[in-house]
Amino acid sequence: MENNTLLACRDVSLGYEGHPVWEHLDFEVHSGDYLCVVGENGSGKSTLLKSLLGLLKPLSGQIELSLPRSAVGYLPQQTRAQKDFPATVNEVVLSGFLNARQLRFYYTGAEKSAAMMNMGKLGILELKNKCYRELSGGQQQRVLLARALCAARELLILDEPVTGLDPAAAQDLYKTLQYLHETEHMAIIMVTHDMPSALKYATTILHAGNHQWFYGSVQEYLA
Ligand code: ADP
Repeated sequence: MENNTLLACRDVSLGYEGHPVWEHLDFEVHSGDYLCVVGENGSGKSTLLKSLLGLLKPLSGQIELSLPRSAVGYLPQQTRAQKDFPATVNEVVLSGFLNARQLRFYYTGAEKSAAMMNMGKLGILELKNKCYRELSGGQQQRVLLARALCAARELLILDEPVTGLDPAAAQDLYKTLQYLHETEHMAIIMVTHDMPSALKYATTILHAGNHQWFYGSVQEYLA
């Protein structure tokens, strides 16, 4: 792998019970990339994310990750149950360290200050002691993003992060992601239905469609 390659799919087929959804998939994510995964419903976007997160084994081919899985931050699609989660913002953000913590029963001082710093970066420090379920949808997404940052050092994976947000909150979230990408040099992989924003912010596009796929720069995609 090139030394700035974070993740590579090499001739990968993905699917269920021997039935491929993706075939001969080849692409790489480098540090500094902002990859948007687009495509119709049912075209395989979630299947790809599950595979990148190590939850679904490829039918064939290799997915190579040059980071520990615990260093990849993941922002799942929000479910109703999560919206009602009875914990404070601080607790939700700190839980991003659960993977690293393993058998320890407490958070370290360094983890607590990193959680504070991530809340600061995302502009939610003043919400720290609020109950998560009392926040707006946009605020909740920021909290989950701060949580993902506690795990992520170099790569954030997001599944339709603006779904359900009003247009202003969605733009806010995109601006935050742009800041993380440009200023904090975080690589981003985002599944999205929002094509105009994908074309505006992404550096590369992976388009899923009926047993075919396209991967390339935004310019190549538009051409
Ligand atoms: P998208 O996220 O783009 O909407 P999915 O990855 O969820 O698409 O689905 C791609 C295809 O895989 C669909 O045909 C879907 O029916 C099928 N599929 C998804 N999950 C499973 C599963 N657990 N078992 C079998 N087939 C599945």
